[in-house]
Amino acid sequence: MARKAASAKSRKRKSSSDKVLNPRSSVAMRGLSTWCATAAPFPSPSLEQNVHADVCVIGAGIAGLTTAYLLAREGQSVVLLEKNKIGGGETSHTSAHLSNALDVGYRKIESLHGETGARLAAHSHSSAISRIDFIVAKEHIDCRFERVDGYLFLGPHDSENDLHLEFEAARRAGVNVKEVQHAPSHLQLGPCLKFQRQAQFHPLKYVAGLAAAFKRYGGRIYTATEARKIKSGKTAEVFTANKRKVSAGAVVVATNTPANHRMSLHAKQTAYRSYVIGIPIRANSIPNALYWDTEDPFHYVRLQRMNDHLGERQLLILGGEDHKAGQPEDLENRFARLRSWARGRFGPLAEPEFHWSGQVMNSIDGLALIGRSPGDEENVYIATGDSGMGLTHGTIAGILLTDLIMGRENPWAGLYSPSRARFRSAPESAAQISPE
Ligand SMILES: Cc1cc2nc3c(=O)[nH]c(=O)nc-3n(C[C@H](O)[C@H](O)[C@H](O)COP(=O)(O)OP(=O)(O)OC[C@H]3O[C@@H](n4cnc5c(N)ncnc54)[C@H](O)[C@@H]3O)c2cc1C
Repeated sequence: MARKAASAKSRKRKSSSDKVLNPRSSVAMRGLSTWCATAAPFPSPSLEQNVHADVCVIGAGIAGLTTAYLLAREGQSVVLLEKNKIGGGETSHTSAHLSNALDVGYRKIESLHGETGARLAAHSHSSAISRIDFIVAKEHIDCRFERVDGYLFLGPHDSENDLHLEFEAARRAGVNVKEVQHAPSHLQLGPCLKFQRQAQFHPLKYVAGLAAAFKRYGGRIYTATEARKIKSGKTAEVFTANKRKVSAGAVVVATNTPANHRMSLHAKQTAYRSYVIGIPIRANSIPNALYWDTEDPFHYVRLQRMNDHLGERQLLILGGEDHKAGQPEDLENRFARLRSWARGRFGPLAEPEFHWSGQVMNSIDGLALIGRSPGDEENVYIATGDSGMGLTHGTIAGILLTDLIMGRENPWAGLYSPSRARFRSAPESAAQISPE
């Protein structure tokens, strides 16, 4: 296999194969992601009494857990509230590419945020991948983290010149990228941009590992505990649906869709739905890498090793067919179009074993909104606007919000500020999580 191998460090890590924990027919796998089918739940109690902490984090997806974990490592006392279960939000619906090849492209990012902004964006996403790599090693998280290359190839309506312009913009941003005449091995994808040292992992095994490490550092997690209202002040108070209260010096709202500022943030981002299928293929028949095309909406592909009752194989995980939330889902046709697109690029393929979909929050300028919550007291923070890059944006949120809460400067703060100039005209609203 012409695979650009993982780094020596990550190769040494042992990781078990992914097994479907509750084998069912492929029909029954509809709606269930590969990740949900192959990860054990992480049990936690619900909040049954009033508590105090330095920081209260709301939402146990990758953004909330990374923030909670990094703060706990700084010696902060942290309470994490989750209304359902750990990793049960969009982190369980992802396709889990860890990339600094931004979904909207560096040409657009540069035009919207300038050359310095594009460099900071590239630096933050590369740093997020490195931070995940570091945490996986430090906390011994068995989540199949591995470095792989990523290939961006042309959709039917784009020219080689478009690819070249994107290459130039990505290079100006400091990204480790090359122009190559073809993807690895036999794949007939045409000329590509090769993004080096991207990565992939099992997202639910990663967040379960983060949760376990957070608890080892003294963190408290309460699941099945919905935050309903934040009363901001020097000491903020978070009221839960079961009438308990967390008082804290700072609050982080990491609920993906911002629960405390629906109105004001509505103008800054739009919800989209994206669709994914997992097709079983013979192990090693397609080089292990990330693949994206330049179509709009684009297609995104990666591979995942499986070893279970059906034997050793790989899954080709393909996503795309994005549309604005609220438009007809037309599930069968969207899944069928994905399947036919995959056959056109990767040859004859079996029927998909997994089908799922999820929501992404696309901000109007391609980057997440991370920082002080507009219109709130200084000690209320948000992370939203994942823009389809929520695993790296969620990790950036953890790093950036930890710095802000610890009173440290961070070079990315202005770029990701929810009050950045482009957003200033949007209205603000009261800090109500949801109606009581
Ligand atoms: C199909 C698809 C493919 C994707 N592919 C990629 C990819 O390849 N790479 C990438 O980087 N990103 C990708 N993304 C985006 C990424 O997966 C998400 O943006 C990211 O996982 C979101 O993490 P989060 O922590 O912000 O939110 P979530 O994982 O949604 O976590 C938020 C949590 O908050 C909880 N919550 C909500 N309200 C409350 C409340 N009031 N009280 C308590 N808890 C509450 C929810 O239950 C949830 O568990 C993809 C997304 C989708 C849907």
